[in-house]
Amino acid sequence: MAHERMLKFVGTGQAFPEKREAILRAEDFQEIASRYAPEKAAEQASRCSQCGVPYCSVHCPLGNHIPDWLRLTAEGRLKEAYELSNLTSTMPEICGRICPQDRLCEGNCVIEFSGHGAVTIGSVEKYITDTAWENGWVEPVEVGPANGMSVGIIGAGPAGLTAAEYLRTAGYAVHIYDRYDRAGGLLTYGIPGFKLEKDVVMRRVERLKEAGIIFHTHFEVGRDASLDELRARHDSVLIATGVYKARDIKAPGIGLSGIHAALDYLTASNRKNFGDPVPAFDDGTLNAEGKHVVVIGGGDTAMDCVRTAIRQGAKSVKCLYRRDRDNMPGSQREVANAEEEGVEFIWLSAPKAFDGTDAIEKVHVSKMRLGATDASGRRTPEQDPEGDFAIDADMVIMALGFEPEDLPNLFGAPDLNVTRWGTIRADHVTGMTNLPGVFAVGDIVRGASLVVWAIKDGRDVVEHMHRWMKANQHHERTAA
Ligand code: FAD
Ligand code: SF4
Ligand code: SF4
Repeated sequence: MAHERMLKFVGTGQAFPEKREAILRAEDFQEIASRYAPEKAAEQASRCSQCGVPYCSVHCPLGNHIPDWLRLTAEGRLKEAYELSNLTSTMPEICGRICPQDRLCEGNCVIEFSGHGAVTIGSVEKYITDTAWENGWVEPVEVGPANGMSVGIIGAGPAGLTAAEYLRTAGYAVHIYDRYDRAGGLLTYGIPGFKLEKDVVMRRVERLKEAGIIFHTHFEVGRDASLDELRARHDSVLIATGVYKARDIKAPGIGLSGIHAALDYLTASNRKNFGDPVPAFDDGTLNAEGKHVVVIGGGDTAMDCVRTAIRQGAKSVKCLYRRDRDNMPGSQREVANAEEEGVEFIWLSAPKAFDGTDAIEKVHVSKMRLGATDASGRRTPEQDPEGDFAIDADMVIMALGFEPEDLPNLFGAPDLNVTRWGTIRADHVTGMTNLPGVFAVGDIVRGASLVVWAIKDGRDVVEHMHRWMKANQHHERTAA
């Protein structure tokens, strides 16, 4: 009986793959967790109780067939587990590494609710597909017979790459335009290597190149072509540009040198780890080594900045967040990792002013407290009259979130509809914008979100693009 191998959650405790010791992992940018040994992966997968209604899958944006691939893993049928997990996702090993599982699949595992600790779904998912890569089970993309039509995708992040893979499978000529020199979007230049090593991303990109997907790097839509020019070149266009405008605050001294936007800081660090020359890092500007670093924000980006600063050899790293630990947007697992590595969190605190002669020397901080609950159900932070304080800083990193750039203006497409937040207004079923044949997915539609949602959007839009192009294939391409 297959089920004899399952339901082991009472006798077998939850065990994540071991993390490297904090003192050692803070020395490099390699991932912090080792991988399961085969018997450990099977043992952990066998804890699943094979729910009739698997809440883990319900809360996985991709609707992954989690109990089925857990069972196959427990039975040692890893190739089949890989094939099944690959059916719903273009990057299972990436999601297994960086999804906030505590808020998605694992956070909704019934075993977690029964007090036994969730099945370690993400770690098993990563194990399955890493093993598939090592064993050569990851097949080239199966390119469909050419259908004579072509698609232009703007943005090579997870949303654009996912759509590209499925469109190629359906026989389209696929061109991806990206303003960076490497594909991957935030997988490549935002998320640090200690969460996601870059060869894991690059092998996915290589596989797409081998499938004949054409990457036009250093190609910025708006500078190198307008949206209309791309519409004239292709039968359909997909906008997957993400959100890149850093949110800011107004405070005295905000213009002092030594205050940086999070993504400038993280991109420089990722580029260094690729071995690229980065003048603003090499001259010390974007290097935290030997500095007292203050990071402002409580999301995933702030967590990545504090942990990057530790690895660069900062003298001290503090994180200011205006709410408390229970009300932060970032993952609790990441806070725990950061604390183990030596980051100090100052909860209920917000910067009031930045002080220094030429460069930043001190951050003046207001103490905050949580007031009434707002419309989103979270308690609004307000200034606590109890007092202010100051902390020394030679480097401040602002990680307050991202907003969309002004795409209609940038793309020379004033007719492109956007919401009042600047995200693209796309039909929530088909993903099509108000411009015929122009679709949009990922963060540029949702606002700053998650990799797994970008993959889902990129996967689901393809069917609608396909339908639209089939119905319109005899029409002329939109004239520029
Ligand atoms: P992106 O990944 O942003 O890709 C967009 C691409 O479009 C980029 O390559 C960009 O160069 C290109 N582009 C933009 N404008 C143009 C233009 N005009 N012309 C040509 N190309 C253009 N999510 C998680 O699930 N887990 C995490 O741990 C996590 N950590 C994160 C850490 C950081 C620091 C950040 C910033 C985000 C993190 N996220 C995380 C969020 C996640 O990275 C995004 O939700 C996801 O990458 C969005 O995918 P996307 O394809 O929509 O856009
Ligand atoms: Fe969980 Fe993310 Fe994998 Fe879905 S894709 S099973 S949410 S780790
Ligand atoms: Fe297994 Fe947990 Fe999913 Fe139930 S919710 S099927 S126990 S992983």
